Amino acid sequence: MLRIAGTVNDSIVDGPGIRFSLFVQGCPHHCPGCHNPTSHDFAGGKEADASEILAQIGRNPLLDGVTFTGGEPLCQAEALLPIARALPAMGLNLWIYTGYVLEDILRDPPPGALELIGLADVLVDGPFILAERSLELTYYGSRNQRLLDAKASLKAGRAVLWKP
Ligand code: SF4
Repeated sequence: MLRIAGTVNDSIVDGPGIRFSLFVQGCPHHCPGCHNPTSHDFAGGKEADASEILAQIGRNPLLDGVTFTGGEPLCQAEALLPIARALPAMGLNLWIYTGYVLEDILRDPPPGALELIGLADVLVDGPFILAERSLELTYYGSRNQRLLDAKASLKAGRAVLWKP
């Protein structure tokens, strides 16, 4: 069962176009200055069913894509897989925000994380670092973070930057 902090049906800040943003509950990173500190507690938030989330997504005909953010999506990768697998047939792309760095994920992946990243279009990686914060960045908060081509990065076994 998925544990979520909440959803936004029409986000324009978590990737291109109009997006359904799913904020998962629970994050081990505790970045100082985190935009969403109430999402850190793994026992907080509420339980959610993948099929209900998919039904919610399907009810919005204006969506361009879905974004998994949080919280730390890769801590619930296995529970997110059914949603990620259904998106291509719905014509929706997938962005995932993670506080982990790709190189660490490749070395020691959380359960289900590699399959989930393989279903994504873009992986925004790295923790939020307050000293690296910039308001000029589009779709992410601090300069250390990267917009990665998820499938190409997995295939190459190294970071491949996303080209819009
Ligand atoms: S990874 Fe994201 S949700 Fe987790 S503490 Fe850092 S900024 Fe907050």
